[in-house]
Amino acid sequence: LTVGVPKESFTKECRVAVTPAAVKNLVKEGFSVNVEDGAGAAANFRNVDYEEAGATIKSKEDAFGSDIVLKVRAPSAEEVALLKEGSNLVSFIYPAQSKDLLENLAAKKATVFGMDCVPRISRAQVFDALSSMANIAGYKAVVESANNFGRFFTGQITAAGKVPPAKMLVIGGGVAGLAAMGTAKNMGAIVRGFDTRAAVKEQVESLGAEFLELDFEESGEGAGGYAKEMSPEFIKAEMDLFHKQCKEVDIVITTALIPGKPAPKLITKEMIEDMKEGSVVVDLAAEAGGNIETTKPNELYKYKGVTHIGYTDLPSRLPTQSSTLYGNNITKFLMSIGPKGHFDINLEDEVVRGSIILHNGQMMWPPPPPKEV
Ligand code: NAD
Repeated sequence: LTVGVPKESFTKECRVAVTPAAVKNLVKEGFSVNVEDGAGAAANFRNVDYEEAGATIKSKEDAFGSDIVLKVRAPSAEEVALLKEGSNLVSFIYPAQSKDLLENLAAKKATVFGMDCVPRISRAQVFDALSSMANIAGYKAVVESANNFGRFFTGQITAAGKVPPAKMLVIGGGVAGLAAMGTAKNMGAIVRGFDTRAAVKEQVESLGAEFLELDFEESGEGAGGYAKEMSPEFIKAEMDLFHKQCKEVDIVITTALIPGKPAPKLITKEMIEDMKEGSVVVDLAAEAGGNIETTKPNELYKYKGVTHIGYTDLPSRLPTQSSTLYGNNITKFLMSIGPKGHFDINLEDEVVRGSIILHNGQMMWPPPPPKEV
């Protein structure tokens, strides 16, 4: 079977779905890999690196015309037109927001797997691209905040004077929030974290950060251990806490998300106005509507002396790293379905059933709820 790796066409997207190292694994499994000319260039992978790994450099048409196409971003309508009838596609899809795309793919009788739909169970951790990209977003959020902050993160005592450490608040302790806390802690900042799920406390503390708590009894755990929407009373109590923190800290990174819902608004304009001149805020929930009232998605701008970073493409801003991790996620996923160059779709397999969106053009999403154990 042939595997196609096209160049991503989305504006400013620098990632590539498969790296030369991942190509080697596919070739070892018996796949022939067609990489589009220049597909890895923006992530610093050269054509010659792919060739040395065993791939063939091909045109866009040939890459899309392969038996199985591996991508990062969901394909555009023009790209779908290049797929052959009955093609197989593995990519981020976000099926709930992609009605037209799925209709186009169904008309091609395609079989489609969504990397965003892979069930987040222990066995599938190796395929969990949402986590690997969130990890990178958390790290990069801290690096971007440091780039826009006028002081050190770490405290220092030097001949030229004493420098206090920067103080950071991270709201939401999922994968991205914990990565941000760990990164900022390593850079010497004083880090405080908050989450509605009590289980996060131990993880925050294990990173050496302080877990902020509310004097308010309400469980934040929804179905499957994910976050649920909190009561208006809880939200008010946490916002009061954040208002106090905003007056004290230098940097706020927000990562609060609730699956399938708009992001909760947790930082108001008034709280931003109470921050110190030169403070920085990064809103990792910008794409889902934002946790910060004053965020402008995809923009870096200053409001009342506070730099706002609303980038929604942080993983693409660290393209070599994100392609390496995504490349591992997607190729291991493919090899779990198609060992030794085959492609055997077993709908009894929980990971396959959870992530398949179209099967020979037939709609398979959403999957049935997992069986109770
Ligand atoms: P996410 O990106 O959906 O959400 C980020 C965080 O925001 C969550 O921790 C959530 O509790 C928090 N949040 C929501 N509303 C909030 C509010 N009002 N105030 C403060 N915080 C709020 O989360 P994620 O990073 O995708 O992962 C979340 C969960 O999934 C965790 O339990 C994680 O351990 C689990 N997970 C499991 C696996 C696995 O088993 N394979 C893999 C990844 C993640």
